[in-house]
Amino acid sequence: MIFDCHTHLAHPDHVGGDFLADAKRAWGESYSMPCSPVEHQEAMKQCDGAIVLALDAEDVGFYVPNEYVATYVSTNPDSLVGFASVNPKRSDAIERLVYAKEELGLKGLKLAPIYQIFDPVSPEYFPLYAKAEELEMPVMWHQGTSYIRVGPLDLSNPVLIDVVARHFPKLKMVIAHLGHPWTSETACVIRKHPNVFSDVSALVTRPWQFYTAMLSMVEYGVTNKLLFGTDFPFFDCDRTIKAFRNINHIIEGTNMPRIPEEVIESIIHGNPLEKLGLN
Ligand SMILES: [Zn+2]
Repeated sequence: MIFDCHTHLAHPDHVGGDFLADAKRAWGESYSMPCSPVEHQEAMKQCDGAIVLALDAEDVGFYVPNEYVATYVSTNPDSLVGFASVNPKRSDAIERLVYAKEELGLKGLKLAPIYQIFDPVSPEYFPLYAKAEELEMPVMWHQGTSYIRVGPLDLSNPVLIDVVARHFPKLKMVIAHLGHPWTSETACVIRKHPNVFSDVSALVTRPWQFYTAMLSMVEYGVTNKLLFGTDFPFFDCDRTIKAFRNINHIIEGTNMPRIPEEVIESIIHGNPLEKLGLN
């Protein structure tokens, strides 16, 4: 089984403003993010199922509504799982989360301090985390860097998730993209907390970072806390799996330690939903 725990869906109207301008500055003028339901469906032929993420970051020009994701995943409920997104700064954040779970059937919550511009350890947001814990909705954090100019890097370090995990030990959480570039910090956080995981998505174009990040995970003994994901549409399953299986290529001919093949295969064939209690 191959299950992709990190995919996006976006209509062209959902992406604009600062987000699009900064993305073009980082990735070139040809950058395009939108991914229609048809394109998503086509890409999902490469795997057995996926988590599909909404994103409520309207202020920076990236807003994929919960309803849009819910409508799409309802077309294939056996293999797609939708995650809501709620900007914690909204006055009705908790109501939106409850609605997403109870009326829309969404199963988790996507948060991204660098896009939503909030401080994840501020106690004013703890009632939202408490509600997610009560509703058994895992939280996926984009807790890592991004090109978005107004995004606060100091609030995007995965070490901050330690604070949330100490207050909410039963809340299942995922630090996306191994928390790049703070990947050793991610290893420390997921080692401490039984309910905090990380996904290996989006490191395909940075082979040295991907290798050293995985080496940290091996050395700290936390590879069983890693989930397979791609960050589609930026990357897909075939490309991510190929890069993962080639991860040792960069150290061929040296005495550098290899990432064991069995570790790589166990992550590719892991079951993220089981780890997140969503089976
Ligand atoms: Zn993503």
